[in-house]
Amino acid sequence: MKAIVYNGPRDVQVRDMPDPKIECPTDVIVKITTTNICGSDLHMYEGRTSLERGRIIGHENLGEVVEVGKAVMQVKVGDKVCMPFNVACGYCKNCERSMTSACLTMNPGSAGAGYGYAEMGPYEGGQAEYLRVPHGDFNCLKLPEDAAEKESDYVMLADIWPTGYHAVELSGFQPGESVVIYGCGPVGLMAAYSAVMRGASQVMVVDRHPERLALAEQIGAIAIDDSNGDHVEQVVELTKGEGADRGCECVGYQCHDPAGHEVPNATMTDLVKSVRTTGGLGVVGVFVPEDPGAADKLAKKGQIAFDFGALWSKGLTMGTGQTNVKRYNRHLCNLIERAGATPSFIVSHELSLDEAPEAYERFDAREAGWTKVVLRPAQQPVSTRATRASPTGKSGTATRHTRERHRAHAGHSVKDA
Ligand code: ZN
Ligand code: ZN
Repeated sequence: MKAIVYNGPRDVQVRDMPDPKIECPTDVIVKITTTNICGSDLHMYEGRTSLERGRIIGHENLGEVVEVGKAVMQVKVGDKVCMPFNVACGYCKNCERSMTSACLTMNPGSAGAGYGYAEMGPYEGGQAEYLRVPHGDFNCLKLPEDAAEKESDYVMLADIWPTGYHAVELSGFQPGESVVIYGCGPVGLMAAYSAVMRGASQVMVVDRHPERLALAEQIGAIAIDDSNGDHVEQVVELTKGEGADRGCECVGYQCHDPAGHEVPNATMTDLVKSVRTTGGLGVVGVFVPEDPGAADKLAKKGQIAFDFGALWSKGLTMGTGQTNVKRYNRHLCNLIERAGATPSFIVSHELSLDEAPEAYERFDAREAGWTKVVLRPAQQPVSTRATRASPTGKSGTATRHTRERHRAHAGHSVKDA
């Protein structure tokens, strides 16, 4: 089969790899029809992780079941399924409490497993034609009948929507509260989308990429450009001097200042300043226990200096870590099927596997307009298509029509919509 393979820093290749096989009676083999490039794949792409050369990348996967092991009871051949990026057993001490991001059995010696990711076990990624899914009954979410026509929405259930949602949840958010979100990449946008949906009184998003900030505004958030003035001051002003009730970190350890220098503690320091006394923080951006490639001495050891004294004095609470996708994906799936949610509004490009190496390069360079790349392994390479659904589509029908219109105008940017 064809797959995207890591070949060293800033080098991913399309290669012929062996088809995955059923290795255990509980395995399922999925023919991948949609798989995303994730912002967190860029940590590996840039050579800032321990990922081995020759590994297949890809943890945001959706497809059709083509083979099931003898012990698989619920999932059937032909089912359309979306896989949480967490590979989990369902029966360990953490999985029992729905903490599937810290499964204790699937990545022995560590907690938490995933597809095609550094330090997350031997599981190959899904930026490929086929994927082996361990514990198929537990690790496949069966999709509704409209799965084929809303693949770009449902694939967001593999990671980024549950991750954005988790950021809001970890912050302790309650309806009517205000939220400030640092980072307006796909996860930050999904956090904003979740906060708006959950009844936030104010959602402020801090970033500097105009097209991302424009998307945040489209879904009802207030865009704050941190390359233009003091962004903490703006948050404090917008909340009448108090600071936001809740704050979300959606950037992680490779955080940059507007001039392009890596400042790993910038978002955490700013969050402490811009969230009010007794507020809460949800930190889902990736931070790592060690980062030998870091420029900063502390960051090499996975440490950051931030205003712990201010955090303590303000009595802030903080939740951290990867999302437990299974805790949220079924409910978020219902919002797509029944309530017209369209998390695909962030999708800027739908490409073939052959176009992935170039997509990595351009997404990594944060080129304007490259918000979220969706790969279609069955698709032939054609020139770049921009297809975005309306984030405000209220009914399934309206959403479908919007999307058809976008397809008909392939090549136009969202601003044309
Ligand atoms: Zn991801
Ligand atoms: Zn487990």
